[in-house]
Amino acid sequence: MAHPDTDRIDAAASDLRAADAALALTGAGVSAPSGVPPFRGEDGVWSEYDPDAFDVWRFRREPGAFWADWLDLRADLLDADVEPNPAHDALADLSAAGHLDALVTQNIDGLHQEAGAEETVELHGNARRATCRNCGWTTSADDARERAESGDLPPRCDVCDGALKPDAVLFGEQLPRGALARARDLAADSDAMVVAGSSLTVEPAASLPAEAAETGATLILVNLEETPLDSRADYVFRADVTEVLPALREAVGE
Ligand SMILES: [Zn+2]
Repeated sequence: MAHPDTDRIDAAASDLRAADAALALTGAGVSAPSGVPPFRGEDGVWSEYDPDAFDVWRFRREPGAFWADWLDLRADLLDADVEPNPAHDALADLSAAGHLDALVTQNIDGLHQEAGAEETVELHGNARRATCRNCGWTTSADDARERAESGDLPPRCDVCDGALKPDAVLFGEQLPRGALARARDLAADSDAMVVAGSSLTVEPAASLPAEAAETGATLILVNLEETPLDSRADYVFRADVTEVLPALREAVGE
C-alpha cells in the first residue's frame, strides 16, 4: 500500500533532488527507534539520572566518581545491541547518493556514522570516544570503559596521564566550536534542509532551520510532535521517521 503522504513525499523529494546544497538535522527522535532513550521528557534519561552528576564541574572536581556514574548512564544509553534503524539508513543513502551534503546531529550515539553517512557534524559530541583534556589524545569510549572497569578511575591518557573525558558535551561545556561553525555554514548555504526527530527547542538546533529558511531553503520537517518551526516549513510530516525517511529516499531516486 502506498504511504498516505505519497504526494507530499514526492513533492518534497523533487525539491530535495533539485537542491544544489542540502543537509539534514537530526535529533533524539531518529535514534529512539533504535532503542536509544531520549534525554528529555517523561521517560528521558534525566528523569532517572541526576543531571548535576554529569556536568563539567563535577568532572573537574571528582573525575573518578563522575566516570563511575557515566559508565552506568552510558550502558543505558548505548546498549551493546543498539544499531542504526531505517531512518539512519535512508539518510546515509541520501548522503552517499549526493543528495545531502552533511548530517548535522544532536545525537551522541554515532549511529549515523555506523550507517555509513559521508559527513556527520556532531553538535553535542560523541559518546563513543574519550579525549584527554590536557593534550587532546583520543581513544575509543570502549577502551576508556575497559580501563575504568578494571579500576582505573578516571581512565587516563597514554601520553600525559591526564584524565580522559567522554567526548559527549557535558552541562556547562561549550559546544564544539568547529562543529557549530560548520553547521551554521551548511545551513546558510543550503537550498533544502531535512529536519528529523528534533523538537527544535534546544539551541543551536532550534535556530539552524530558521537560518536556512531565511535564505529561502526548502524546509522538510519529520517529527512526531509539533515544533516551533512547523509554520515556516514547506513540508511537515507528523509521522514516524522510520517510515517517512525511507519513503523520501526512495522517491528521490538515484
Ligand atoms: Zn593527555
